[in-house]
Amino acid sequence: MDNIYVSEIRDNWQAVQEKIAAAAKRSKRNIRDITVVAVSKLQPVAKIEAAIQCGITDFGENYPEQAVEKIHHFAGNKQIRWHMIGHLQSRKASIVASEFSMFHSLDRLSIAARLENQLETVNRILPVLLEVNISGEISKAGWDLRTMSFEHWIDEVNQITKLPSLRIQGLMTMPPFDTQPEQSRIYFHQLSELRNRLIKVFPGLELKHLSMGTSQDYEVAVEEGATLVRIGTAILGHRQ
Ligand SMILES: *Cc1c(COP(=O)(O)O)cnc(C)c1O
Repeated sequence: MDNIYVSEIRDNWQAVQEKIAAAAKRSKRNIRDITVVAVSKLQPVAKIEAAIQCGITDFGENYPEQAVEKIHHFAGNKQIRWHMIGHLQSRKASIVASEFSMFHSLDRLSIAARLENQLETVNRILPVLLEVNISGEISKAGWDLRTMSFEHWIDEVNQITKLPSLRIQGLMTMPPFDTQPEQSRIYFHQLSELRNRLIKVFPGLELKHLSMGTSQDYEVAVEEGATLVRIGTAILGHRQ
């Protein structure tokens, strides 16, 4: 028997996929280049179960300790990928090193070094994205290129490229909250431009990802080149 969440999540999932397909078409992109990460932070296991039944394979979590219970619950399902999308405290780095498929929110050099140590212990490689505070909003995490020079940032990125267990695969951002999705476009566009600059500096890195767009503005994000959209409530409903 389907659990009580399946029909709602199936409808939501279908609507999201249709909107992404339309946005991809408008911007002449291939939908295969866009992965939806269903953000399951503060959501019960039963909703994740329902989402898996609807064909969702990628889940995003912000809090490592809460995530680890869910990850272990679904450990038998090898198709599921867990994405860490929240700010990481250094004492929780070992959880991310051993349990997650991708870390979207690498926002400082010290956490990169910490992760490298932990990854070596568990003998894993971790794809990571560099979180950029593209708007310069005080409350947001990520490298802020309004207060740090591009050269200084490049120097830090270069140090991260030397860590053998981390693989930089792109950039991530969280624009200021706005109820008008169009307000996010400039920030998504700037993140995409920043990736282009980074590719010129590091031609050897495969910087294929732009993680941007939430329930609020994922269609705009897709139009601006997002390869990973992080969608919570529009798929899984309200959080606890
Ligand atoms: C919670 C969260 C999301 C999802 O937000 P929704 O509004 O539920 O889509 C995406 N990205 C990050 C970093 C988040 O913390």
